[in-house]
Amino acid sequence: MRAAVFYEPGVIRVEEREIREPDQDEVLIRVMAAGVCGTDMHIFAGAKGASECFPPVVLGHEFCGIVERIGKNVTKVKPGDHVTVDPSIMCGKCYSCQIGEPHFCDDYSATGVTYDGGFAEFCTVNEKQLYLLRPEVSFEEGAMCEPLGCCLHGIDRAGIRTGDTVLVIGGGAIGLIMLQLAALSGATTVMLAEPVEKKRKLALELGADIVYDPLTENADDVCRKHGIRKINVVIECVGSKATMMDAFRYCGKEGRILLFGLTEPDCEIPVKPYEIFQRELTVTASYVNPYTHGRAADLINSGKLRLKELISDRIPLDEINRAFEIRGKNGKMMVFPAKQGN
Ligand SMILES: [Zn+2]
Ligand SMILES: [Zn+2]
Repeated sequence: MRAAVFYEPGVIRVEEREIREPDQDEVLIRVMAAGVCGTDMHIFAGAKGASECFPPVVLGHEFCGIVERIGKNVTKVKPGDHVTVDPSIMCGKCYSCQIGEPHFCDDYSATGVTYDGGFAEFCTVNEKQLYLLRPEVSFEEGAMCEPLGCCLHGIDRAGIRTGDTVLVIGGGAIGLIMLQLAALSGATTVMLAEPVEKKRKLALELGADIVYDPLTENADDVCRKHGIRKINVVIECVGSKATMMDAFRYCGKEGRILLFGLTEPDCEIPVKPYEIFQRELTVTASYVNPYTHGRAADLINSGKLRLKELISDRIPLDEINRAFEIRGKNGKMMVFPAKQGN
């Protein structure tokens, strides 16, 4: 099979590799689409992902495909089924796993980071990692279950109530998912702050009620203009110092701030505890996607989310290095192994 092998920072080579036949509890998947994630960018650049990476390894942890062959103990899926893969692998026996916080597993590993993943024609995973996709769901949307699962964990932690006003900062793929989830969670008004006009227009199509350019307007004025009393929840999806500070600045009294964007590890922002006190702010964050992959698959199967629009670059596996040049600046990048299209 063809596989994109990560050898060292800056080096990914597409080459022939042996297919790893499934063990008794494993399933061989013909990969149909694999999303490129910020984590792949970080690893490619030499930084650490959420789990250890020991090259040479095939990256790609956001993928879906068709079951090709199954091990003898596999009961949940059969050849021909369309499936999405939860890349997270937890030990199940450490303290965090035992108390239901598996994302903090002492021995956390992942398909596409620790083990060979989806930037290949085939990938072998444990049956436990699979969720069924309806055959009518496109593969490129099916491949978005993993980032969607991360967003769902964030949304759970943001605690949106019916009737809330939610401000999403950043209209990249994640921000555009978040605004849809905020609306599904009962927010009556969803605002998006995004400097790129094209992304603001797309956000309106995807259900945002109000969009504005944060470089020329600020959220307080926008709220005043639209008669909005306060912002109940701010979801930061950029990860820059300025936007993190905006999240604190614009969150209303008794509001909740979800810091979802990933900053550099040593990024610091000035925060006045007095303001947190005065406004009774709740500040939270969200780390990976514990137990949310199934709900993500259900949501995608339901057709209630619009995800196709978020995909900006479709790249054949042989040209995967292009993805690391584009760096997702236009939106979500999707890799398609060997001429199977979608
Ligand atoms: Zn990811
Ligand atoms: Zn564990």
